[in-house]
Amino acid sequence: MTIDADITRRVTGNRSEMDLAAAEKAVADLLTALGRDPGNEHLADTPRRVAASFAEMLTPREFDLTTFPNDEGYDELVLAKNIPVRSLCEHHLLPFHGVAHVGYLPGKRILGLSKLARVVELFARDLQVQERLTRQVADWLGEHLDPLGVGVVIEAEHMCMSLRGVLATGSKTVTSALHGTLREDARTRREFFALTGIAA
Ligand SMILES: [Zn+2]
Repeated sequence: MTIDADITRRVTGNRSEMDLAAAEKAVADLLTALGRDPGNEHLADTPRRVAASFAEMLTPREFDLTTFPNDEGYDELVLAKNIPVRSLCEHHLLPFHGVAHVGYLPGKRILGLSKLARVVELFARDLQVQERLTRQVADWLGEHLDPLGVGVVIEAEHMCMSLRGVLATGSKTVTSALHGTLREDARTRREFFALTGIAA
């Protein structure tokens, strides 16, 4: 295989195994601790459903990452906007959700656009804080694509801020991570933020 071939590799979440039975028991115990009766017919199936929900939300789907040689020498920003983000805050186990804007300045290789969404999911299906999620997506793309620059912006609403605590419904938290040219070159950075619709 030459260096210019298409390269495909399978990407998995690589997390430790989950013990669903233990999770179900823990949910039943939580219900009891909260003064609810897990034997109540309306709650009978709740531990199983909650355990299955967490398992799903914490398991990224596998995908094939294919990169292609940048034969055309495309040297402008590639940006995928408004990629849905759904994740779980590790401080409250409550969801946060919103959108990610993921861009890169191609080097020798480019990748299928839909894969940018899969990379976001790869790290979003975890117990997270938004800052780390943003950085992990940027770091991963930097590592696997070796682009000239990478930019990731996430705007999300956190249920732990909307449903409780400060009750700041509708408030958005914005985080960004920039590498390479997008970090170092003011013009490229401005272009990136302008394309994402975020004032910089
Ligand atoms: Zn939280």
